[in-house]
Amino acid sequence: MSKVKVAINGYGTIGKRVADAVSLQDDMEVLGVTKTKPTFEARLANDKGYPLYGISKESVKSFEEAGLKTEGVFDSLLEQADIIVDCTPGKVGAKNKEDLYIPKKLKAIYQGGEKASVGETSFVAQINYDSSIGKDHVRVVSCNTTGLSRAIGALSSKLSIGTVRAFLVRRSVDPRDSSKGPINAIIPDPLTVPSHHGPDIQTILPDLKVITSAVKVPTTLMHLHSLMVELKDDASESDVKNVLEQARRTKVLHSKEGFRSTAEVIEYARDLGRSRYDLYENMIWEDSIVVKDKEAYFFQGIAQESIVVPENIDAIRAVLELETDAEKSMDKTDKTLSI
Ligand code: NAD
Repeated sequence: MSKVKVAINGYGTIGKRVADAVSLQDDMEVLGVTKTKPTFEARLANDKGYPLYGISKESVKSFEEAGLKTEGVFDSLLEQADIIVDCTPGKVGAKNKEDLYIPKKLKAIYQGGEKASVGETSFVAQINYDSSIGKDHVRVVSCNTTGLSRAIGALSSKLSIGTVRAFLVRRSVDPRDSSKGPINAIIPDPLTVPSHHGPDIQTILPDLKVITSAVKVPTTLMHLHSLMVELKDDASESDVKNVLEQARRTKVLHSKEGFRSTAEVIEYARDLGRSRYDLYENMIWEDSIVVKDKEAYFFQGIAQESIVVPENIDAIRAVLELETDAEKSMDKTDKTLSI
């Protein structure tokens, strides 16, 4: 099978995971990755055999001076690519779209740090894969929106649900980030309530009312979501459990097995031998699934660095029409990532 050529712009937290996931697929390959500076990640790209491009002539020069192998400036990568996965910091993608991708008539996938308007559609594979088939510009939503949309989407597809409320306890920074944290504080973030996450989820599930608020806490490992879902019919606790257990890309955990916090969940990912202790699934605590007075409650943990990785792979397949059957694409992605 001939493979489509994927260029990854921004080889950071998300970009390096997407590159590794692309390299595991039989229908796509990593054409190249970009870095701005000759960091350890640029050297990692060399070590992994991913062709390394600089975003400017200055970047390329700095790679050469550092003894790194480079294929040149980003422009030449764009010439050969079938699709770009833009993994640059928030708002840079929107600029790249206007300055680079549209003029070169290139299809691109963007990340959740961009406004919804960057894409013709926002994407969560198990909910709206079909709406991105053949599109040119698609946004994979943020880690929080992906995790919430998966759980709420699963419930709304099987049960009749009303208003959803979610409180998000967010990690302050990623483990790699020494410039901003960890913080010794609990920060209402954003300070305004409700938070932007509810409207963002509505880009995926437009018919549902979702109200959210969020704080940042001194941890780097995962986000924790507390969900409260209004049930319109007489769904029982086991109905809700069954839906969450059977949903794709979710995993139900039991506290009697020692899962007391996000710490044990991450230890489990390490024990599974997952690359970079990545978790692509929503991690839902079974004990927290309670139904009372027509309201379902539960907690879920979201590994912010990795949850959107399978979504990026499926988005590539949808946009390039490599697979028009969402289930088949997700089966393939899940198998290669050992989900
Ligand atoms: P990051 O800072 O870890 O990586 C960004 C990469 O882009 C770095 O390699 C950096 O060198 C490079 N870069 C910076 N400026 C650039 C430019 N002008 N052109 C090309 N490359 C440039 O960021 P990240 O955490 O990987 O986030 C990338 C996107 O993914 C953002 O939209 C973010 O909101 C989203 N996202 C992040 C997470 C997370 O937890 N980190 C989760 C989901 C979505």
